[in-house]
Amino acid sequence: MDEVLLMIPGPTTVHPRVLNAMSKAVINHRSAKYGELLTETSELMSDLFKTQNQSYLLTGSGTAAMEAAISNVLNPGEKILNVVGGKFGERFMKIAEAHGISCDELAVEWGTAVTPEAIKEALDNDEDIKAISIVHNETSTGVAAPIEKIGKVMKDYDALYIVDTVSSLAGDDVDVDKYGIDVCITGSQKCIAAPPGMSAITLSDDAWKCAENVDSNGFYLDMKAYRKSGDKNPPETPYTPSVSLTYALNEALKMIQEEGVQNRIDRHHKAAKASVEAVKALGLELFADEKVSSTTVTAVKMPEGITDKEFRGTTRDKYGVELAGGQDHLKGNIFRIGHMGNISYKELLQTFGAIGMTLKEFGVIDDAGAGVSSITKSYC
Ligand SMILES: *Cc1c(COP(=O)(O)O)cnc(C)c1O
Repeated sequence: MDEVLLMIPGPTTVHPRVLNAMSKAVINHRSAKYGELLTETSELMSDLFKTQNQSYLLTGSGTAAMEAAISNVLNPGEKILNVVGGKFGERFMKIAEAHGISCDELAVEWGTAVTPEAIKEALDNDEDIKAISIVHNETSTGVAAPIEKIGKVMKDYDALYIVDTVSSLAGDDVDVDKYGIDVCITGSQKCIAAPPGMSAITLSDDAWKCAENVDSNGFYLDMKAYRKSGDKNPPETPYTPSVSLTYALNEALKMIQEEGVQNRIDRHHKAAKASVEAVKALGLELFADEKVSSTTVTAVKMPEGITDKEFRGTTRDKYGVELAGGQDHLKGNIFRIGHMGNISYKELLQTFGAIGMTLKEFGVIDDAGAGVSSITKSYC
């Protein structure tokens, strides 16, 4: 089988240990054995979020957790401030709109990050804002927002702090309790490197207080139901969870623990820095403002002389490296390198080799090895 190396911002390559965990016998989800698996996996998730609060597992991709984060804490008509600097910020706003929540958009130019000052100003100008939503790592643009600094601002306001860490948790610094995040969510298939299909959410006491006052929080993603089932002995989920994916997520989280969360984050920082340097060495231009560029995905402007189809088609079909394209108005204008999950210099050498050879083949650059050479310098 021709394996294609996934260098996209999710799903990421899943380790054989995690794949094997998924092939365990499917057990009764209302049994002591599943209760143990659920408890352990939720605890590992809370450790990763760095929170004392309970984490809940949802069977559903990251977007399910995004929806749960919004729909459980706000009533229709209540106001949310949505920070929108890319596709996922936009998604939070669309979800809120779909639930009849009143949305204020804080628009940020794609490729740049929101500032804590802009958040402060927006909150000062409107006392009715009940919550803000922000995407830590805007995967569509390769930008990381300053969620720690924004957390400091949020401490002066009652508004809930809702953060999407789908493409950053386990790949960049996230400290839910220290940053004062009220609702934090993530997905299985990005930096955690489990297969897609599961997500997680954690809520602070303040968020739960808001949830108590919401009576239209939907059905499948009603977090009160998850809390009630989770409090049973043995703990359960309200509806049948993906037992196999829970095994996979559990194993992936154990692998993260074995590596050490900080080591893993450092590895992502190193890969991001090496990628940025290699992009420059190839004479290509970064899309995102380098000061706020992501630790897990690097967005690059598509050079003149090659189309997106030619470029990504060749890296994939000829060199076995799958890269991501741009979304919306960035389609065809940028490509994105996902360096999240289990990747290190080996994968980056292959990736930048593929990029260099493809660009040389199309006459865009002369030195096909400049990126690879740069990667070697970053790692030795
Ligand atoms: C991938 C991603 C999501 C969730 O997308 P799903 O396809 O539903 O898993 C949400 N937010 C961000 C920032 C993401 O990168």
